[in-house]
Amino acid sequence: MSVVVQKYGGTSVADAARIGNVARRIVATFEQGHSVSAVVSARGDTTDELAELAREITPDPPEREMDMLLSAGERISCALLAMAIHRLGYDAVSLTGSQAGILTDTVHTKARILDIHPARVQAAMDAGKIVLVAGFQGVSTERDVTTLGRGGSDTTAVALAHALGADVCEIYTDVDGVYTANPSLVAKARKIDHISYDEMLEMAAAGAQVLAVRAVEYARKYDIPIHVRSSFTDYDGTWVREEDDAMESPIIRAVTYTTDEARVTVRGVPDQPGVAAMVFAALADAHVNVDMIIQNSSEEGHTDISCTIPAEDSAAADSALHTVVAELKAKGYSSNDGIAKVSVIGAGMRTNPGVAALMFKTLADLGINLDMISTSPIKISAVIDKSRADEAVRALHDVFELDDAGIRHDKADRSSF
Ligand code: ASP
Ligand code: MG
Repeated sequence: MSVVVQKYGGTSVADAARIGNVARRIVATFEQGHSVSAVVSARGDTTDELAELAREITPDPPEREMDMLLSAGERISCALLAMAIHRLGYDAVSLTGSQAGILTDTVHTKARILDIHPARVQAAMDAGKIVLVAGFQGVSTERDVTTLGRGGSDTTAVALAHALGADVCEIYTDVDGVYTANPSLVAKARKIDHISYDEMLEMAAAGAQVLAVRAVEYARKYDIPIHVRSSFTDYDGTWVREEDDAMESPIIRAVTYTTDEARVTVRGVPDQPGVAAMVFAALADAHVNVDMIIQNSSEEGHTDISCTIPAEDSAAADSALHTVVAELKAKGYSSNDGIAKVSVIGAGMRTNPGVAALMFKTLADLGINLDMISTSPIKISAVIDKSRADEAVRALHDVFELDDAGIRHDKADRSSF
């Protein structure tokens, strides 16, 4: 009997009617003869509301207690879904992340999964039960409840799919797949039928909201195909899987953007070995993920170092870097959250020159200034003023002809998917 792991996002379980709908879907999969385990997110805006409750108590809540608080959102939806399945006459059991055997490190509010021991999940499935697992959480090596960072239920699902030997991890959401750009911004955006792990990883890191970065990392590492699809329809969504010959690479697959990053700059640091190491060690110690990095050319033995970080980590970065500024006798420190990062992504750019030139010309024609630039073999990102992000995304989607990329570049044989 094959194992199917499904994950339902917060909007799919937002109210009683939707929970009933999800219960019927799960039961239908079970009736097809599969063992089913479903990972569930917190309902609707529950996570935001819980975080808001904490802020009403204190501006700086202890992270351990934040994890106790936020993990409750997923327990609620998971238990309600189990009840809905019971009501349909099927046997279901809900489990917390800890009960499902999800072991993490001790970094509260953004823990990493270290290992999974899904013995209870497996035993319940073997006994013919449908198993619901609360997403986004685990138990640390110190036996505390941890959460996996925003969007972490995706990671729970992929990790569970791997641990249970599932053929695919189905991610059910409120959109019908991954798009060439955010459809609420770009009316002509198109659903992508299939995309490689590498491209999806770049998209997720560059601001595509539909899948969490760590989930894609995990899927790529263990080669778990992900099927992102709508919980409201029966259509095929987007398949994320290993690139193969049938998956012809368009030059550009998608345009993404994020306004969730901030730029921090340490000014006038001595231009000598070990300085960058000190700056970034301080950020790493504060658990701040760094994205783009720029070091200016040296003037009179001094230089500026800038990088982008998640805006939500600004306070942590500020305190870490103020210490560094003092230690290095640097000239100063500043941060700016009025930025947007706009990215074009596509495996085909590996073999097609001119993508950067066209991207920069398009932005230049709009009079948009580039503040920082970074590239990978399959991605080009530029930091620009936040107020110009929408225009930039639309113009890039147009100039790379993503609305009809299905005809121009994307001739893969769909029948093999
Ligand atoms: N409920 C958490 C969040 O809103 C985790 C998730 O939805 O995946 O980020
Ligand atoms: Mg989510």
